[in-house]
Amino acid sequence: MNPLGVTRPLTAQRRFLNQARAKLDESLPWDSGRRSLWAALIALVLAVLVTLVWLAGRYEASQVQAELEQDTSNAVGDLRGGLQRQVQALQALQSAHFSPPDWQTRALELLRDNRDWLRVEWRDPSWQLQAFADSPLRAPAFERIARSDVLNDANQACQRTKRLNGPAYSSTYFLPQSDGLGMEVMELCLPVMQAGDLLGYMVVTYSLQELLTERLGATFGRKNELSFIEPDGTRLAIAGTQRREQRIFTSQQLVDLPGNTLLLRMDGRRGAPDLFPNVLTALVTGMSIALITVMVLLTKDARRRQKAERDLAEALAFRKAMEDSLVTGLRARDLNGCITYVNPAFCQMVGWEAEALIGKNAPMPYWPPEMVDEYQQRQAIRMAGNVPPREGFESVFMRQDGERFPVLIIEAPLISVQGEQTGWMGAVIDISEQRRIEEVSRASQERLQATARLATVGEMASLLSHELNQPLAAIASYANGSLNLLQDPQAVPQTLDDVHMALRRIAEQAERAGRVINSVHDFVRRRDQSREPVPPHALLDAIAPLMNLQARKLQVRVHMRVEPGLPSVWCDRTMVEQVLLNLARNGMQAMDTPPCLDRVLVLQVRRTLTHAEDAGVEFSVTDLGAGIGADVAAQLFNPFFTTKPEGMGLGLSLCRTVVEQHGGQLEFEELQPKGTVFRFTLPVADSGKPSLSKA
Ligand code: ADP
Repeated sequence: MNPLGVTRPLTAQRRFLNQARAKLDESLPWDSGRRSLWAALIALVLAVLVTLVWLAGRYEASQVQAELEQDTSNAVGDLRGGLQRQVQALQALQSAHFSPPDWQTRALELLRDNRDWLRVEWRDPSWQLQAFADSPLRAPAFERIARSDVLNDANQACQRTKRLNGPAYSSTYFLPQSDGLGMEVMELCLPVMQAGDLLGYMVVTYSLQELLTERLGATFGRKNELSFIEPDGTRLAIAGTQRREQRIFTSQQLVDLPGNTLLLRMDGRRGAPDLFPNVLTALVTGMSIALITVMVLLTKDARRRQKAERDLAEALAFRKAMEDSLVTGLRARDLNGCITYVNPAFCQMVGWEAEALIGKNAPMPYWPPEMVDEYQQRQAIRMAGNVPPREGFESVFMRQDGERFPVLIIEAPLISVQGEQTGWMGAVIDISEQRRIEEVSRASQERLQATARLATVGEMASLLSHELNQPLAAIASYANGSLNLLQDPQAVPQTLDDVHMALRRIAEQAERAGRVINSVHDFVRRRDQSREPVPPHALLDAIAPLMNLQARKLQVRVHMRVEPGLPSVWCDRTMVEQVLLNLARNGMQAMDTPPCLDRVLVLQVRRTLTHAEDAGVEFSVTDLGAGIGADVAAQLFNPFFTTKPEGMGLGLSLCRTVVEQHGGQLEFEELQPKGTVFRFTLPVADSGKPSLSKA
């Protein structure tokens, strides 16, 4: 029988697996919920990170902007300071002691020192030109357009000086140049005063471009682009570097001059990459990347965990399905003998629920009350650490309704992962069905044997009538003779003796007939299968009467050779007699068809030829028949194989079964020039026990 007893249909396992899968699927809504939570978390973290990076960028931009604003106001301050110093330098030219040529010399010096000056004029209070000097550093500015044509702005500035009582600047205007280009210029008018009297004006024409370059270019122009602009954004003059980078920061401030207001614009261009503008942003970005990496790793880990959970759940479901599908009962006990686990098959077997069994200790509810003492002892032995036989042991359990049933228990120590014994695991197999089948098979085998014996007897019925004829005829003739004697009145004394003798003969013959009938009766009725020590000659003696019947009919001489001093053999005597009778009968029949002249059958019993201590006793039946051909030999022991018209073909098959049941082997051998010998060995009985190791 399959030790695990997995005979329940596979559909049951499938059902369990499907249930487990259904449970897994139930957890899916939670899965999708968890997924959306993860998505929300990732979105939030991304939003926070983007905001942080953006804020950091903004902060950095505002820093740059503030720096630019500061630079711009510094630039305005520098510009004003520069212009102020120039006004002071110009005031030095006001001295009335200068003659125009001297003035011009001094003016040229100033022009050399101030590159942003294009021209210096000295005009009297009626605005007449006293002297002038053009910048020696460049072409004269008023070449293309005569000075007289563009005096208006300067004039207005000078008008303003009266009001302001100090220097005044004109508004800017475009002055075309002889090279085809032009430039924005501005006039400065400084009144020349002496003791409160106006002596004239100093007019300086400024090039805005040079003003920017000279006053601010060196300091602020390196990093920024500087320009004077109109309120509408039109650039009047540009100085400084003009970088190509994308990001531009712009700052504008008014340069408030007496009489005119300029608008200074500073464009700062960023050279560093926008993504990592400064350490703060770099730090935030780095942390963001680290955070995202950690999140990715966490997500991967969560996925792995989820998969492991799924695998584990499937493995558990499969294990449970397997356990539930088993028809073998499983029972685990701890080291104290308490039940810690039972599978459904065990519960079904004993009729108790798992809850009623788990935690129970001896006496168990499934122990028959009459066996409790014995089982308790057995459990004590087991708990003391004695390992039960590997092949298991048989026992009897009781169902809840009181029905007893036989079980086979295979128990083994339960070893934990740490390698320690934590209890005992037992597989319990209900063997009541097996027992029933064995019983049926035993009964049918017995019936078969009885049938075979009856068949043998049937064959012998004719022989029996022949055998009984002799004693019956003798009885009849003795009886008739006695009657005749008793009817003759003259021969009284002699007759009485004769009658006595005749009656004794009658009694002997009747006994003989009775023995013949009894031997057949015994043979047919004997069913006792028990084994016992039997002297070998007793086996031959028992079959002799029946054997001789056939021998006489077939004119066969039977020789029995029993080695002296043979020990008894351990056997079922009825069955062995049947074997010997079958072999003898086959031998005799083999010598009859085809008929042979020399008809001798030898039954021999002797010790086997080995020197081993446990050597058995060998029985052999030898005939001088035609022998066994190869085709017959191939199927000799097949049931129902026969070559005889009236044969059943069961004899040799039965003989082999019986001999094998006794631990031996039925063999046959061809004899030369003719004949066959069948032999088998029986174990020697040694004080009531078989001594052949196979037995
Ligand atoms: P049955 O005697 O009813 O035929 P058995 O099983 O006893 O059945 O024998 C089967 C066959 O084996 C016989 O029919 C016969 O052909 C052959 N056989 C058995 N014993 C001998 C023998 N000693 N010599 C020759 N043939 C034999």
